[in-house]
Amino acid sequence: MRVNLLGAPIDNLNMQENVQQVVEFVRSGNPHTIITLNPEYLYRAQNQPELMKLVHEADLVTPDGAGIVWATKMAGIPVPERVTGIDLMLNLLPIAEQKGWGLFLLGSSPGVAGEAAEQLKKQHPALKIVGTHHGYFRPNEEPEIVAKVAAAQPHLLFVALGMPRQEQFIANYKDQMQVPVSMGVGGSLDVIAG
Ligand code: UDP
Repeated sequence: MRVNLLGAPIDNLNMQENVQQVVEFVRSGNPHTIITLNPEYLYRAQNQPELMKLVHEADLVTPDGAGIVWATKMAGIPVPERVTGIDLMLNLLPIAEQKGWGLFLLGSSPGVAGEAAEQLKKQHPALKIVGTHHGYFRPNEEPEIVAKVAAAQPHLLFVALGMPRQEQFIANYKDQMQVPVSMGVGGSLDVIAG
């Protein structure tokens, strides 16, 4: 079930149910997109229809922030808990490890995605990170990066280009990349790389 907050759909699911949804998406194999909706994005989407459109087109929208959870309570349509990008990502890792899913980390400064991959593998030794690439590329380099992601055939793509560029990148290229689940994760790779 979805609730509607200021024109944006939000899936009324707790963390565990969001994780389960991702498992279903991967099982189906077709490209799916996840938006973790934070207050800043929701605010900007009020005046930028193209940002709101991306939320409506996402297969899963999570409440990213205490403010969003609070607002759903105030509106009488409470969602159970905050589900941030980094938390959802971290909750998916044990399953990715167990199921042998491939992960691609795209974004942040040169070196950060690779370092984040190393850190993740310390916690999850069997995790398959099938590719990394930094997030400082020009529009004319995008086809090359899209091709690199597609060739790596990850099950999960985490995109850290900042909001809303990461959401736009995923929407623009999901059909070409054919990754079962793509999600913007903001500054998460910086946090994980430490
Ligand atoms: N970033 C990037 N390419 C850019 C601009 C930003 O890869 O052209 C990265 C930046 O290094 C950081 C992330 O995107 O790792 C954005 O993090 P931030 O916390 O600003 O994003 P938000 O959480 O606000 O979406």
